[in-house]
Amino acid sequence: MKRSTGQNRSITSKWRPATRAVRTGTWRSEQGETSEAIFLTSGYSYDDAAIAAGRFAGELEGMTYSRTQNPSVQMLEERIAMVEGAEACRAQASGMAAMTSTLLCQLSQGDHLVAARALFGPCRWVIDNLLPRFGIESTVIDSRDNAAWEAAIRPNTKVFFFETPANPTMDIADIEYICSLAKAHGITSVVDNAFCTAALQRPMEFGADVVAYSATKLMDGQGRVLAGAVCGSEEFITEKLLPFQRNTGPSLSPFNAWIVLKGMETLELRARQQSENALKVGQFMEGRVPRILHPGLASHPQHNLAKKQMEMGGTIFSVILDGGRKQAWALLDALELIDISNNIGDSRSLMCHPATTTHHSVGPEGREAMGVFEGMVRMNVGLEDPDDLIEDLDQALKKAGL
Ligand SMILES: *Cc1c(COP(=O)(O)O)cnc(C)c1O
Repeated sequence: MKRSTGQNRSITSKWRPATRAVRTGTWRSEQGETSEAIFLTSGYSYDDAAIAAGRFAGELEGMTYSRTQNPSVQMLEERIAMVEGAEACRAQASGMAAMTSTLLCQLSQGDHLVAARALFGPCRWVIDNLLPRFGIESTVIDSRDNAAWEAAIRPNTKVFFFETPANPTMDIADIEYICSLAKAHGITSVVDNAFCTAALQRPMEFGADVVAYSATKLMDGQGRVLAGAVCGSEEFITEKLLPFQRNTGPSLSPFNAWIVLKGMETLELRARQQSENALKVGQFMEGRVPRILHPGLASHPQHNLAKKQMEMGGTIFSVILDGGRKQAWALLDALELIDISNNIGDSRSLMCHPATTTHHSVGPEGREAMGVFEGMVRMNVGLEDPDDLIEDLDQALKKAGL
């Protein structure tokens, strides 16, 4: 394997993000292939026994087993770290593997976590149901309320965890405030940045310690594979996350890594175009529905904060209808082009009813407190011509009585 210029940090750190997304993390074999090879191998052979021993002892460079290292996976890790502007990255089997590993690798019995109330459903399950089984307590708060973050801190608080914009309420958390508060108290801030990716929001520039991803979403962006990633300091990744991953196994398949590696090359293009489309479709919806939540629209209650920390409004908006579940389902069932599906970041436009899908497991009380109402639908805007999406929504809204 030849290290291409894409691996030399003294060169790549001068490159702009779009160049990094295409050129970093390319390792070339002696064939000089332009596109990265897929290394579908679980293990590695050694020229002699001493080399095997040296690698296991960490004294020699080289791979030992694909639970810990794989060339295709490491290419992806280099590329994501470079695009994020992070010291290091470890890929994970899925977004939830990334979130669970990030929390469990640093929390112990007796520790306390403060988390945003409005989180992706399974993240709330981990916090509400899994962590308590290991004696890890948590406080969930309204992430928009800066004073609530400070009030929730206890002497044993170790981690702040939030996503922004939140799914599906589109709550915006003030990254700079929350992360600097964490820093002042020796707390690690973890931001789930799946909604945006570095193409639209770079939490580390606002002080975040760890940025965790579902790479299933915008990074793949074409609905093909599950993947996850965690970015952080070299110390966090190698001393906390790596031992956890090596010994518990939430590792990414080399094939899936390759898919996401290719997705990264078009990430910025897709994220920007889909955000533009979402704004246009959102502007149309604004005149037709009682309430729409999209960070790019001036009607969003935290539009100014969104403008400060996001490059664009993102690919997603939520709509709240007065007619509850009945009207929300009527709208979904009348769609002809847009699919009923719960994925986000996809190049296809998708719509879902969060209360009965992504946030079903949170329960009715939790949903009410979070602001996930029965009349809410969430739309991911894709790469189709926005005028076709508007025409489809127009006819479906009419059928739903709007
Ligand atoms: C999808 C998602 C996850 C989980 O990712 P998977 O790849 O589906 O496991 C976590 N957080 C957010 C915000 C998500 O949208």
